[in-house]
Amino acid sequence: MQEREAAGVLRDTAAIRTPFYVVDETLLKKNLEILKDTAERAGCRILLAQKAFSMYSVYPLIRQYLSGTAASGLYEARLGKTEFGGETHVFSAAYRPDEFDEILNYADHIVFNTPGQVLKYGEKVKKAGKQAGLRLNPECSTQEGHAIYDPCAPGSRMGTTLSMLSEAGNFEETILPYLNGFHMHTLCEQNSDDLETTLRAAEEKFGAWFSKVKWLNLGGGHHITREDYDRERLIRLVCGLREKYGVEVYLEPGEAVVLNAGFLVTSVLETMENGMQIAILDTSAACHMPDVLEMPYRPPLIGAGEAGEKPYTFRLGGPTCLSGDCIGDYSFEAPLKEGGRLVFGDMALYTMVKNNTFNGMPLPSIVYRHEDGTAEVVRAFGYENFVGRL
Ligand SMILES: *Cc1c(COP(=O)(O)O)cnc(C)c1O
Repeated sequence: MQEREAAGVLRDTAAIRTPFYVVDETLLKKNLEILKDTAERAGCRILLAQKAFSMYSVYPLIRQYLSGTAASGLYEARLGKTEFGGETHVFSAAYRPDEFDEILNYADHIVFNTPGQVLKYGEKVKKAGKQAGLRLNPECSTQEGHAIYDPCAPGSRMGTTLSMLSEAGNFEETILPYLNGFHMHTLCEQNSDDLETTLRAAEEKFGAWFSKVKWLNLGGGHHITREDYDRERLIRLVCGLREKYGVEVYLEPGEAVVLNAGFLVTSVLETMENGMQIAILDTSAACHMPDVLEMPYRPPLIGAGEAGEKPYTFRLGGPTCLSGDCIGDYSFEAPLKEGGRLVFGDMALYTMVKNNTFNGMPLPSIVYRHEDGTAEVVRAFGYENFVGRL
């Protein structure tokens, strides 16, 4: 599990104050090569979903491989347009009237969540010469476990269901003329077999309209760069859509772009015992890797085993006052000691974009490890970043 890469990271960043996120250029490029190859073979375009990763100092590199960015609103659209370039696509569950014109400046594609939003803003999009899409909800749940990541769950506000379309009156006359494409986003960390299931459901419900638009955007959640991901099936599915409906196809993965391409390096501040060994780190689950508590999941820790697997088991926790600020229980060959460094894996995605200064916690620095091993501190944070948002 990335032991070699992590050793290199530890060596090259030894002089940098912890905690910090490291994005590794070699690992990032590996993902980007896979995505570019997939896009070329499928004849589709792949965008970076900035929601997962917005470290814009590496946008010029990513731009060499991907076609543009996907944004969730004004700020991400602006960042994508100004720092990445290429195509800028925006989806928002609802747009603010006082922001819409500015979004329109940055966006090439604007995806609406409901027929009501299309009626409200469709004319503006058309007049600006931009493209509009409607997000569909195929009501086909393919994931278990992470209910908060299931846009197809009952009562979901994400996307337009078939019955919402029917209730919108004469869809073909009132809504469809504004639309250049359809959008779907129903997956989360999933393989292409679930995409196939989803497409089958979507075609059954909405397929009659697919050939009346220019593009289909299949959203994110495709774990394309994961070891066991079936890319051949994805390519087959995308080619099938293009042939059958004459559409262009977009994918907008976030996670897959930086999957396993980043780390979080932290130091042990103190150890203690309360029925078990505990280590207090200078990083916090609540502040620096909130998905650990939200999702929840146990992040990979390089060189460590499951609790009880190696001789010394420790519970790892943050320095905050939140009792539940624990990252997990891990085991080690030797006892942890003050000053020792630990490296968490897969820490580029949904970390920098979600972290916070709860409890007055400092934010981890952002480090970029170049291919030649040079570790560059891209950003360091201080008191001003805590006080400036309060
Ligand atoms: C979250 C999201 C993505 C990216 O999802 P990943 O799971 O990070 O690949 C893409 N598109 C939309 C609309 C999203 O909400």
